[in-house]
Amino acid sequence: MSTNTVTNWFGNIVSHPSVIVDANSIDDIVAVMKDPVKYPSPVRPVGSNHSTAPCGAADGGTLIRMKMNQILSIGTDTLTVQAGATHLQMAKALEAQNLQFYVNTEIGSLSAGSAACAGTKDASFEGEFGQVGSYVIGTKMVLPNGDLLEVTEAAQPDLMQLVRCSYGLFGIIYEVTYRIRPLTPMHVHHKTFSLEEFIAALPDLKALGYSLMYYAFPFDNCLTVEFRKYNPTATGEPNRSAWALRNRIWGMSGPKFGHDIEANVSNPVVRYSIVDASNATWRFQLENIVTSDYTIPPDQIINYPPVSDDSRYTFSLFAFPEDEFPAMLTDFFKFCKDYYAKFGYRSNLLYVGYRIAQDQKALLSYSYDGAVMTIDPVSTANPGWDTFLAAYNQFCSDRNGKPLLNQTPHLDAATVKKAYGDRFTTVANARKKYDPNDRLLNDYFRGLLS
Ligand SMILES: Cc1cc2nc3c(=O)[nH]c(=O)nc-3n(C[C@H](O)[C@H](O)[C@H](O)COP(=O)(O)OP(=O)(O)OC[C@H]3O[C@@H](n4cnc5c(N)ncnc54)[C@H](O)[C@@H]3O)c2cc1C
Repeated sequence: MSTNTVTNWFGNIVSHPSVIVDANSIDDIVAVMKDPVKYPSPVRPVGSNHSTAPCGAADGGTLIRMKMNQILSIGTDTLTVQAGATHLQMAKALEAQNLQFYVNTEIGSLSAGSAACAGTKDASFEGEFGQVGSYVIGTKMVLPNGDLLEVTEAAQPDLMQLVRCSYGLFGIIYEVTYRIRPLTPMHVHHKTFSLEEFIAALPDLKALGYSLMYYAFPFDNCLTVEFRKYNPTATGEPNRSAWALRNRIWGMSGPKFGHDIEANVSNPVVRYSIVDASNATWRFQLENIVTSDYTIPPDQIINYPPVSDDSRYTFSLFAFPEDEFPAMLTDFFKFCKDYYAKFGYRSNLLYVGYRIAQDQKALLSYSYDGAVMTIDPVSTANPGWDTFLAAYNQFCSDRNGKPLLNQTPHLDAATVKKAYGDRFTTVANARKKYDPNDRLLNDYFRGLLS
């Protein structure tokens, strides 16, 4: 076995590539593709390696770490970057020119290469998409045979639809062009509902035209909903502290608290009553502090440390047709409580979810058939987490849940095929055309495609 050991950011996905290459130029990538003896298969690119599934694992093969991260050009409505540029880095450059992304997802580490070809999620604004890649309108990549290929939405919309969910299996992306928009003031507020109140209010909440994200607390039978909307007429100075507080607690002190409580409080009854009390404080802060008529969208993007520490967290995700979500959510609250009663396991953090608009920009979009609402358990991977996720996968698959190949751990071929059906076959066939010798195919994708 190779002596190289590489983990994802969280540290729970370990792979042993034979060779690791830092790609600082297109030629570095071409050289890898053209020499399978020096650079064995599978060749897997990674950006920030934040995925919670082993899509970037390159056991026995060649791991390409994308180091090309320059911002190449900023126009009035487009941004072109090298594939290793990160979401926060790009957002800051845009903000300096009074511009912004459409989707300001909270993960600042998301690389442009990953955004262009892998799954993402954020609550959709009125009339907009919630997947970052849906605003990617052009990519340039190195194909498995070393040739270069440019794909644009304008010239090849069907191919772009495949590239947006290709997970680096068609080629390695070195340049990405996004559609962007003017920087616009944004309103945010939060409100807590009991499960029953939330379900009853949902049709009205949707009609209000806000983006809807939620923190779910099955053990307290409630949810706190985040409402966001552009507010172009906001005046005065923007509130820069609301998102700073959200980012600090959600991205750092909250998970650190979960980690510490796990390490120091062995009695589960005591431990989880402390977790519940902490979540109640979190709800209070969201409702009373993370509220403003005038915030700046890029302030939502979190600067996660490049190397994770005790404040790290991990998660999973399934998306559900929004019409089926109320029943699903009710079942899910019960599922969490039943699971805890039976097996003694529950997450030591919380659960979140997003309402995401119908989106056919990627063939494997989880909202291809209509708007969805997601359920994402979040945890510090406390003992029992992986077994819980196996049960959660089955629970979600039984209820028409759609997973994400880079954000849903422990997937199998049957679950993916059930979720994506013929669209998955189409992507699999296209992959074979672009990579007939399986140069980029790792064990994870081979298993899903089998
Ligand atoms: C703490 C935390 C918070 C998160 N929050 C969010 C969130 O709010 N919203 C959200 O959508 N996601 C979130 N994620 C998930 C994350 O956005 C995705 O896992 C994303 O893929 C990570 O980007 P990355 O650059 O690390 O991708 P990687 O994990 O490096 O790669 C993902 C996939 O893309 C491929 N790839 C990467 N670069 C290239 C390239 N240049 N060319 C071709 N293929 C490439 C890889 O081979 C792999 O298949 C979060 C993850 C963590 C750990």
